[in-house]
This record gives sequence, C-alpha cells and structure tokens, in this order.
Amino acid sequence: MKKTFSIGGVHPDDKKISAGCAIEVLPTPKTVYISMAQHLGAPAKPVVAAGDRVKTGQVIGEPSAFISAYVHSSVTGTVKSVAPYRDLAGNPVMHVEITVEPDEWAEGIDTTDTLVTEIPQDVRFIVDRIKNNGVVGLGGATFPTNVKLCPPPGKKADILILNGAECEPYLTSDYRIMLEKNGQIVVGAALMKHVLGVDRVVIGIEENKPEAIAKMKEAAASLAAGSSDYAGIEVMTLKKKYPQGGEKQLIDAVTHRQVKSMGLPIDVGAVVQNVATSLAVYEAVQKNKPLIDNTVTVTGECFPKQSNLLVRVGTPLSYIIEYLGGMPESAAKAISGGPMMGKAIANMDAATLKGTSSILFLTREQTKRNPETNCIRCGKCAEACPMGLEPFLLNKLARNNMYDELEQNAIQDCIECGCCLYSCPANIPLLDVIRIAKGEVIRIIRGRTAPKK
Ligand code: SF4
Ligand code: SF4
Repeated sequence: MKKTFSIGGVHPDDKKISAGCAIEVLPTPKTVYISMAQHLGAPAKPVVAAGDRVKTGQVIGEPSAFISAYVHSSVTGTVKSVAPYRDLAGNPVMHVEITVEPDEWAEGIDTTDTLVTEIPQDVRFIVDRIKNNGVVGLGGATFPTNVKLCPPPGKKADILILNGAECEPYLTSDYRIMLEKNGQIVVGAALMKHVLGVDRVVIGIEENKPEAIAKMKEAAASLAAGSSDYAGIEVMTLKKKYPQGGEKQLIDAVTHRQVKSMGLPIDVGAVVQNVATSLAVYEAVQKNKPLIDNTVTVTGECFPKQSNLLVRVGTPLSYIIEYLGGMPESAAKAISGGPMMGKAIANMDAATLKGTSSILFLTREQTKRNPETNCIRCGKCAEACPMGLEPFLLNKLARNNMYDELEQNAIQDCIECGCCLYSCPANIPLLDVIRIAKGEVIRIIRGRTAPKK
C-alpha cells in the first residue's frame, strides 16, 4: 500500500498544465537585480561597489551571520548600483544591479554537462563547497544547506529524505528536473548521505508522476551498480495528498515518525531536502558552480505559453513575461509559488530569487472569493488540518487578539498550508487570519526566549 501522512490533508485538482514543457534556457536579460536577502537568516553583506566588473559565479555578497549565505553574480557585467530595490512583495531590499555582458565564468567552475559521479570522501570539503557556493533549501524555506547538514551536538540523523512530492497544484519545476537531471539529483543525494553519515536515503515522489518515479529509480539503480557510495538510496511512491511536501508530513509518510510541536526533523533523526536542493548540491560540489540559476515554472490557464525555464537569479519578472509573449489581459493576479501556499506578487519589476520556483497567473474568476458567512461548526477545517489544529478556534481567538490562548492552542505549529481555507464552506478567510496572528505569537515567543542584553 502506498504511504502518506496520517493527519488531515486535502486533494486539490493537479492542474499540472506545464508538465509536458521541457526545461528551456531563458536568455539573460540586459540588467539583473540580485537580492542580498534571498535566504533564511541574516542578509548577505555586499562586497562589490558601483563600477566594479564581475564575472559569472563571482561572490558579490558574503554571509553576515551563522545563518546567512553567500550570493554570487549570475551574469558577467558591470555593477551599476548597490542600493535598495523593491522585491516581489514591493518592499525595498538591498540589491546589486548589474548591466549584463556576454558570459565570462569565474575561475574554477566546470560548465560542462559531464556527470561527475565519484563522491569526495572529505566531508569538510563537501560542506565547504556547499557553503561557498551559496546553496540554500529550494523547497520554500531557503535555509542555508550547509547549516542543515551539520546537526547540533547531540543530534544525529539516520535518514535523509528527498522531497520530490511537488504536491502544490500547477508547479512542475521539480518534476522536470527529475525527468531531465535525475542523475545529478541522485549524486547530490549521495553527497548529502555521506556528509550526514546515514545509510538510508528515501526520495519521496507522489503517484501522479509515474515518469519521474521511473527515471529516478533508473538513475538510483544505475549509480548503485557502479559504486557502494550509492547503496541505500531508494525511491518511494507516495499517495497523492496535499501538503505531502511539508517537512513534517513527508517524515510521517516515509517513516511514521511524528515531529513534536515546535520540534525539528532532526529531533526524530531525519533531514529533509528538496530534489532541487540536491541538484544545487551536485553542481556546487562536483562542478564548483554557485547557485546562480534555477528552474521556474511559468503557468496559468490564462497565460499564453506554459513553460519551465532555467532562469538566472536576479532576472526581472517583467522580462520573463515579455519573453513569453506579454501579460494577457485576463490575468488579474500573479503568485510566486503555488495557489495554496504561494505569495501574491506586488511588483512585476521585481527580480527572481534562488528560491523562486513558479510564477502563476490567475484570472479574476479564479481568485474570486465568495462572501464570508458564519461558522456552521462543521469541523471540516479541523479534519483537513495536517498539523492537528482547530482552525475554527484559532480564527475566533485571533479575531479577539487572545495571544496566550492562541499559543496554548499551538498556532505556532501552523505551516500555512491553506487546507483549512480550502475546506471551509462558510468561506472564512482562515489562513489570512491565522497567518497574521501566528506572526504575532512567534514574535511574543521570541521576545520571551531572546537572551537579555
Ligand atoms: S493553514 Fe495552518 S491551521 Fe490551516 S490547515 Fe494549514 S496548518 Fe492547519
Ligand atoms: S470549516 Fe469553516 S464553517 Fe466549518 S467549522 Fe471550520 S471555520 Fe467553521
């Protein structure tokens, strides 16, 4: 029987209308805007100034704290400015603006397509390459990968889980890389397996992607036949259910282990990485290539051309849209990510980030919300919540600013998956209300636990 997580979940329509579109390399734009804050943790500190000439793959931002990451130039060119520029949400964030010239790669980067399968045995070498090449988690959180692969003293992983679920409707970038770059993903998995010192790696893929399952199985078997470094890497077919790609849900589906409230995957011996992160790890370690590009799905029924594009980090969205034929009149809303967990894009001149996986266009009809009515206490939101919360109660407490009670009812565990909103027959904007209140509760908890100055 196919596995899945045990609590809640919903079954939205797939709408993977770009699944058949092979990855296409997007030509570089005339100007890129590279954010210094495109990872979880402290923003990077710019190390270039206006007038500097930079090569593709050269460091332009250095980590400013333990949880931070290097940022590299995704192009060759001249730095025009180092200044605040509006991000996807419309907020001013420090960016490096570069006028683009033909590519000249920084020293030591292997730009060939040859698959390098030999696993370096020096763990420090692997971790340093991941860090120095600015790899961050590409499953949504953008947590620096080198930090995640080095658990704190006393914590030890016994399993690495690769997330190939891609359970959000419309998104197909992970699907395409599993079809087209499966060998690289498996090598990336073997590199992380070696760093963590685990014997088992499970690549979890939902049953609605049979071609990706077949390709990944083939790659894992072929590499295992050539070297014992690839032993213990298996592909697991998962039942289709949203949000299977959530870390805690994927751990439950694969191992039946439950991560406690406010706990971390490592507490139950698991480390979860996305398949796109595994590809970035491969490129960083085996090719010494920094994370300067990623696959972005551009999709939506109203959009003229469905695509999966290999995009240089810092490419303006307006350039991508123009390349694909311009914005259709019927598009009323653009979302970065999927329709369940994605965030509305407020600025179409904003630039892509390392973690940008999709740009989704929706019509007014698709974004229309029916008028909110009273809660009928049907319990559907609680039934759908994969974290075992009671969204109807959180909604009530949040609307009354009852933060102590919200914390007691574990609002901080909400993963903002939107299953409650999706299920509610009364059209109550549960996710919107809960997300704002959760932010406030986390601020209160952090204030309480922060070291006194
Ligand atoms: S958004 Fe939060 S409260 Fe709603 S279903 Fe998801 S985890 Fe539960
Ligand atoms: S799903 Fe909506 S109507 Fe039903 S209990 Fe939850 S909040 Fe109330």
